[in-house]
Parts: sequence; C-alpha cells; structure tokens
Amino acid sequence: MAVERTLSIIKPDGVRKKVIGEVIKRFESNNLKIVAAKLIHMSKEQAEGFYAVHKERPFFGEVIEFITSGPCMVMALEGEDAIKRNRALMGATNPAEAEAGTIRADFASDIQCNVVHGSDAPETAAFEIGHFFADNEIQNIIWD
Ligand code: GDP
Repeated sequence: MAVERTLSIIKPDGVRKKVIGEVIKRFESNNLKIVAAKLIHMSKEQAEGFYAVHKERPFFGEVIEFITSGPCMVMALEGEDAIKRNRALMGATNPAEAEAGTIRADFASDIQCNVVHGSDAPETAAFEIGHFFADNEIQNIIWD
C-alpha cells in the first residue's frame, strides 16, 4: 500500500465545539501522522480557491460563509492509504448517514457543519496541501 499525504481540516464548527483534540487523537491512534499543522482563519479568497470545484453548486455561497466564519485547524496527514483511511474515519458528508463511531457521526450537526474536511483523491490532496502549506512547513521525518 502506498504512503500518501492528505489534507485534513477541522472546520470552524469543530473548533467551536472544542473537539480538535478528539479528532487528532483518532488520526494519531490510526497511524495517520501529522506532518504539517496550523490554526488559520481563512480569507474569502482563500476559501473560494479551496472550494473552486464546488463553484457551480447551489450551496457554494453558504459553504464559503461557513468555512470563513472562524478559525480552522488545517493539517497534512501522512500514512499508508491515508486519503481513503482518513475519509473512512470522517464518515459520510451528511452526519445522519455517517456510520456509527465516525468523526461526523459523533460530532457533526448537519450536512454543512460536518466538522472535518478530507481530500478525496491524490490530485486533490496535492492541490489542497499546496493551497495551505509551503514546502518548508511540511515535515519529512516523523517517527513511527
Ligand atoms: P465531503 O467531501 O464529504 O466534504 O463532501 P463534498 O465534497 O460533497 O462537499 C464539500 C462540503 O460542502 C461538505 O463537507 C459540506 O460542508 C458542504 N456541503 C455538501 N453538501 C451540502 C449541501 O447540500 N448543503 C450545504 N449547505 N452544504 C453542503
């Protein structure tokens, strides 16, 4: 299985609910290593660039408003099959449909305020990590 990197965001609702620690604990105990991390308050431009693929969707404006409504914890995670495994830990987009024990089933309120983001493919992961982190902000050596 290939070692991958993926972008994770604990969205403003997760920060507000004080579940940063709970979410990170799940990553670390599932061998997803944090290789970059920062708490940021996204600008509108930064958010629109990040969510550009959703530009035509009817909820685009609401999502931009939500993601810029407060600080987010952005992280790059690394591990074998990290993209798929992170999304499995997150659960379905709509928490009502998320499997029990997933981050969204446990902490999310609704389809928009769903606590976490995770890249969905290697190409999007590379774009999204580059959108928030410079190369020298990503650690190359993290212990096993
Ligand atoms: P994800 O990959 O599971 O995060 O889901 P998507 O890529 O489909 O959507 C991106 C984000 O847009 C989601 O995580 C939600 O925050 C938001 N979103 C998705 N669907 C809806 C919707 O129907 N209404 C609203 N308001 N937001 C949505």
